[in-house]
Amino acid sequence: MSDDPPWASLGFGEPAAVFQGPTQNARVWSEGWARRYLFCPGCGAAPVEAQTANRRVCDFICRTCAEEYELKSQNGRFGRKVVDGAWASMSQRLAQANNPSLVLMAYDRVRLSVTDLIVVPRHFFTPEIIERRKPLGPHARRAGWEGCNILLERVPAFARQAEVETGSAARRANTQH
Ligand SMILES: [Zn+2]
Repeated sequence: MSDDPPWASLGFGEPAAVFQGPTQNARVWSEGWARRYLFCPGCGAAPVEAQTANRRVCDFICRTCAEEYELKSQNGRFGRKVVDGAWASMSQRLAQANNPSLVLMAYDRVRLSVTDLIVVPRHFFTPEIIERRKPLGPHARRAGWEGCNILLERVPAFARQAEVETGSAARRANTQH
């Protein structure tokens, strides 16, 4: 455990009421945080830019080295699997030569702060770590839709770069304000 004081900028800095709304609000918040504080793990440039929503499986792109990142955020720590979106578009995207890197952000919705930020570099973010989920049943609103899980357990530990752990900035804390 680090003795570093908590990094003030890890807080979302918004009223708690936002988290009482639909989950899209948490996504807006986490993307806002990333726009302000995320730097490119590929080349160190900051900040990375948010992509417009019309491209699938790419949320951020670095204007310096062109590396792309997908951001996944959730309340609470990440386990062995991370639930993600549509299987077909994900597996297609990861099979491309310019597949994105993965940025996993865990936040604490009570403390309103980012608790973990894990980067999986693009050469480990491949179809091999994607698990196809069972299609939704015939009575589901999106019957037949297939989601996927990201199998974090299949990513070698050395490939997961922990940028922020347990509420303290692992590095660059003093340069990102
Ligand atoms: Zn870069």
